[in-house]
Amino acid sequence: MKNEYDVVVVGAGPGGSMAAKNAAQRGLDVLLIEKRQEIGDPVRCAEGVSKVWLKKFIEPDPRWISAELKGSRIFSPDGTMIEMAEEIAGAEVGYVLERKIFDRALAYESAKAGAEVMVKTRATDLIIEDGFVKGVKVMHLGETYDIRAKLVIGADGVESKVGRWAGIDTSLRPDDIETCAQYLMSGTGLDQDFCHFYLGNEIAPAGYIWVFPKGQGLANVGIGILGSRSGKKHAIDYLDEFVKNKFPKAKILEIDVGGVPVSGSIERTIANGLILVGDAARQSDPITGGGIVNAMETGRIAGEVAYNAISRRDLSTNTLQEYEKRWRAKIGLDIDNSLIVKNTFITFTDREINALAHSLKGVNFTTMSLLDLLYALFKANKKILWDLRVIFKNVIKYDMDFER
Ligand SMILES: Cc1cc2nc3c(=O)[nH]c(=O)nc-3n(C[C@H](O)[C@H](O)[C@H](O)COP(=O)(O)OP(=O)(O)OC[C@H]3O[C@@H](n4cnc5c(N)ncnc54)[C@H](O)[C@@H]3O)c2cc1C
Repeated sequence: MKNEYDVVVVGAGPGGSMAAKNAAQRGLDVLLIEKRQEIGDPVRCAEGVSKVWLKKFIEPDPRWISAELKGSRIFSPDGTMIEMAEEIAGAEVGYVLERKIFDRALAYESAKAGAEVMVKTRATDLIIEDGFVKGVKVMHLGETYDIRAKLVIGADGVESKVGRWAGIDTSLRPDDIETCAQYLMSGTGLDQDFCHFYLGNEIAPAGYIWVFPKGQGLANVGIGILGSRSGKKHAIDYLDEFVKNKFPKAKILEIDVGGVPVSGSIERTIANGLILVGDAARQSDPITGGGIVNAMETGRIAGEVAYNAISRRDLSTNTLQEYEKRWRAKIGLDIDNSLIVKNTFITFTDREINALAHSLKGVNFTTMSLLDLLYALFKANKKILWDLRVIFKNVIKYDMDFER
């Protein structure tokens, strides 16, 4: 470890590794630091990801793919099932990853591109001079070091501190965070071709339960709920009830707990000399909580913008605006649309969720675009058209822009 780099990236999750790789590929001198001793471990993720999206960033490798899915099955509270083909089921359906290996592979990609990677190295504060972030203070094997950098990229996940240290408001209200609990289970007897989602306020208030097959009879069985709506019960209590009813004979091999930001886009993700990416920038999807591909995409943009800004020798927010503009154009729009849907969805009673599911029964989801899906929904449920009018407008605009 030197005491000066072009870029220091804090956090070796998908966002940080993509940022480090893309900055290093362009010839920048990059340090990627990770507080844990093993990148990717422990896992706090259901590990679902869209094939199409993932292939934009990295060639799929059987070493980190646990299962390949045909689609998803969504169950309403009364058990009505909607089946969706993988292509339209969203950014979390396609592959189920082995993130312990996947995250490590991404960090390895950044090292191959020339980045220096340091584990057991925790950022403890930023170095700030004359209103500019100028590096990070780190703790490595009990020693503290100051590492200077032209730009710092904060990719330190949901519990991010880097943004706050730079004066960016990344705080999450109780309604902005899903609390999650997950078991890795064996012996679920699950159909290994589909991931399953279970909806309903009784079983998962303002959230859902997921069952993602991992091959060889294994599955990630988890729950995300809005803590503010769940009364005295914790996420793990709801999960235990579900598991007891659904998989009474299955065995728990691993327990993960964690949080997912579902706030929609925050006001600012840059400061002078600093960019935030991924969960640290609250860029995960407010409906599903999925954030792997968004973190990878914003990490990639951050690496490119780092190169442009350093080449221009201007690390001010004026130049770093390029990052804000680029990620907000697609991901920002998507997550803000998702937030509108989520805020509408969490007001639904179980009866209304059942009614929605009944209205979609028999619809062919193998060939549908999101726009077709919305049309089908609205045709059957005119009442929700008004609540979701903004997203409807945005989707039409996006489809038209895309076709142009
Ligand atoms: C239970 C659960 C299930 C989920 N399921 C899915 C899913 O199926 N699909 C999906 O797409 N998303 C899912 N997510 C969300 C997904 O895990 C995150 O969106 C994604 O990991 C974000 O990537 P990231 O790089 O921004 O942050 P992270 O992957 O969280 O990486 C941040 C890294 O920064 C490190 N770090 C933190 N602080 C410091 C510091 N001070 N110094 C150095 N290093 C530091 C951390 O150790 C960590 O390695 C799930 C989340 C949870 C909690």
